[in-house]
Amino acid sequence: MSALYLQSSIEYVKGIGTEKANLLKKQLNIHSCEDLLNYFPFRYVDKSKIYKINQLGSSSAEIQLRGKIISLKETTFNKKSRLTAIFEDSTGKLELIWFNVTNWLVKSIPLHEEVLIFGKVNAFNGKLTLAHPEIEKMNEAKLAHIVLEPIYSNSEKLQKRGINQRFFKKSIREILVAIDDQIEENLSQEILVNYKLISRKKAYQQIHFPNSYVDLQQAEYRLKFEEMFFFQLGFGLQKIHRQRINLGNPFSNVGHHFNEFYNFHLPFQLTNAQKKVIKEIRKDLSRNIQMNRLLQGDVGSGKTMVALLSMLLAIDNGFQACMIAPTEILAVQHYKSICELVDEMNISVHLLTGSTSTSERKLIHQELLSGKINILVGTHALLEEKVQFKNLGLAIIDEQHRFGVEQRSRLWGKNSIHPHILVMTATPIPRTLAMSYYSDLDVSIIDELPSGRKEIKTYHRTDSNRLSVFGFLKNEIKKGRQVYIVYPLIEESESLDYKDLMDGYESIVRDFPMPDYQISIVHGKMKAADKEYEMQRFVNNQTQIMIATTVIEVGVNVPNASVMVIESAEKFGLSQLHQLRGRVGRGAEQSYCILMTKSELSNDAQKRIKTMCETNDGFRISEVDLELRGPGNILGTQQSGTIDFKKTDLIHDKVIVSLSKSCVDHLLQDDPDLTKEKNKAIRKFFLKYHKNKIKWSKIS
Ligand code: ADP
Ligand code: MG
Repeated sequence: MSALYLQSSIEYVKGIGTEKANLLKKQLNIHSCEDLLNYFPFRYVDKSKIYKINQLGSSSAEIQLRGKIISLKETTFNKKSRLTAIFEDSTGKLELIWFNVTNWLVKSIPLHEEVLIFGKVNAFNGKLTLAHPEIEKMNEAKLAHIVLEPIYSNSEKLQKRGINQRFFKKSIREILVAIDDQIEENLSQEILVNYKLISRKKAYQQIHFPNSYVDLQQAEYRLKFEEMFFFQLGFGLQKIHRQRINLGNPFSNVGHHFNEFYNFHLPFQLTNAQKKVIKEIRKDLSRNIQMNRLLQGDVGSGKTMVALLSMLLAIDNGFQACMIAPTEILAVQHYKSICELVDEMNISVHLLTGSTSTSERKLIHQELLSGKINILVGTHALLEEKVQFKNLGLAIIDEQHRFGVEQRSRLWGKNSIHPHILVMTATPIPRTLAMSYYSDLDVSIIDELPSGRKEIKTYHRTDSNRLSVFGFLKNEIKKGRQVYIVYPLIEESESLDYKDLMDGYESIVRDFPMPDYQISIVHGKMKAADKEYEMQRFVNNQTQIMIATTVIEVGVNVPNASVMVIESAEKFGLSQLHQLRGRVGRGAEQSYCILMTKSELSNDAQKRIKTMCETNDGFRISEVDLELRGPGNILGTQQSGTIDFKKTDLIHDKVIVSLSKSCVDHLLQDDPDLTKEKNKAIRKFFLKYHKNKIKWSKIS
C-alpha cells in the first residue's frame, strides 16, 4: 500500500484539501505525497535556547525570545509604510519592525499573548531591533521539544492561504505516520553497513525532524550518498552497455614502430606519470572494446608525447591514426613536432587544415584511402564527410573542452568498427565534476611535470606600475629571453578589444623601439598565412616580443619565452589565465607571469587574481573556478541540467561524491547486471526512477 500511498495526490492528506493541493502543485511543483516528502527543509534553526532581552548584544545571530507584544504602530517614512511593535519579556523591551506592511500582516500579529519570537537582532540607530521576526503563539508551540526546527522555503502568497511553516510540518508528519515503515530501502544491506548509512526511512524522518545535529548530519549524508549513488550508477551501467555494443579493434602488437621510437628516438626520459598513462592506454587498446579515455594533464605535462606513442601503437597494428586540434596554429605545431620526432622513421605524417590547398587536399584524400598516410594531424577540416580513411584505428582530440559531443561522434563514424578515442585536456576539471559528469569515460591523469621545470612566478600589477614592468621586460630581453603580451578578446565586443590591442601595440612599439627590439603581432583578424609568418618569427627568436590576443591560448610552445604579460587580466576566467600562463615556463629558465589589471576589482576578479598568484596547480585552480562559477558554467549550459542535484553540492560534498563513486565501481564489478539477490532493491529503484534519465545512445 505504501507505494500507492506515496504516489497518491497530496489532496487526500489530512488537512490539505483541494485548494491547498492546487496551490502546492502550481507554486512548488508538489503533486504527490512523495513530492512533499522530498521537499526538504532549506535550513534549520536551533531553538534549544530561549534568550532574555537583557542578554542581547548587538550581534546579528539568530535568537529566540519569549514574551508578549504589547503595542503595534504603523508609520509612514519617505512615503513608505512600516510597522513597529514593542515586545517585552521579564527583563526589558525590544522593538520589532516590518517593512512592506499589508493588512494581512497586521492582522496576523497576536497582541498581549504569550509568544515565541525568532529572528536576527540588529543595532539600528543605537537601538536594538528585530526585523521581520517569526512569531509563534505559545499555546501553539506544542513542538517545544523540537531542537532543530525545519524551515521550508515558502512565499508570502502561500502563507496567506494557510501554507505556512506549521502546515509543512504537520502535513509531512502526517505522511510519515501514514506510511509507517513503508519507505522502502533502495540500497543493499552490505552498502548500508560498509558505508555506515542509516536506513532510508530513518533518513526521511531525521531530515524533516532532527532531534540533534548528529541526526541531521546522518540524514544528509544518507540522502546525498543515495543521490550520487544512483546518478553514478546510471553512468556506470551506461558504460558497461556501451562497452558491450561497441567492439573495438584490439591493438595486440607492441611492434616495431613503438619499440624503435621508444628505444632510439625518445628525446627525453618520460616522467613516471607519462609512463603510467601510456600503460593505461595500452591496456585499453589491447582489448576488443572501444576505448573512450579522457587524458587530463596540466599545461606542459607532456600530453603530446603520450598521443604520439599511442598513435605508434595503432600503426604497429596496421591502423591509421589522426589527431585533431582546435586551432590552426596548434595543429601546425603538433604536425611539426610529430614530424620532427619521427623524422628518421618510415612514417607518413600529413597536415589537413582550412588553409590546405585544393590539390594538396585531393592528394591527402587519396592517400588516406589507400592507407599510405599513417598519421593525419588537423583541425575541424578533418571532420568533414569527404575525409575518409582506409582503416582509422585511433582518433585523438586535443583540448577536448573546445569540441562538442557532435564533433566527437563524427570521428566515431570514420570507421565501421569505431576507432578508439583519446581526448586530451589541459583544462583540468575538478575531480568531483570529472567523477560525476564523466563517469562514463575512463580518466587518466598526468599529475607530474617533467623534471627541471621551475615554478612560474606570478605577480599582480596595475597601470601605475607599468614603467617598472616595462623595465623588467627589457631586462629579461637583454638576457636573451622572449616575452608574450596578451590582450583579451571577447567575442561580443570584438571591435573594442581590437582597438585595445592596437593601442597597446602602438604604446609597446614606442617603448620598445627598433632596431633594439623586434615585435610580432598575432590576432584573430589576420589571415592564416600572416599569423603563421609572425608566429614563426617569434619561434625563431627573430622577434623578442609577441603581442597577441588569446589565439595563442592553447598549445603554443616556445621554450625560450619566459615572461607572460596578461593585459586586463580581470577580464579573463581562471582557466584561461592558467592556460595563458602555461605558455611560459617551458624551458629551463625562471619564468614569470604578470597580471595587469585596473586598480578597482570586483570580489570575484580579486579572488581569481589572488589564486593565480598563489598557485600553479591546475587542479587547485579548477576547484576555485568551480566555487566561483558553479558546475553549470564549467561544463557548459547544454550539460548543466544533468548535474542539477537536489541535495548534493559538488563543491562541499566532495567526499560523498568520491565515496559513492567507489561504491558504485565495486558494485558493478561484482554484479554488472544487478542480478544478484542482495542487490534487488537497488535494481528495483533504479529501474523505477532512473532508467529513463539515461540516454543510452549518448556519446561521450
Ligand atoms: P601539454 O601537455 O601542455 O600538451 P606538451 O606535450 O606540449 O605539453 O609538452 C610540453 C613540453 O614539454 C614540450 O616541449 C615537450 O617536448 C616537453 N616534454 C614532454 N615530456 C617531457 C619529459 N618527459 N621530459 C622533458 N620534457 C618533456
Ligand atoms: Mg598540448
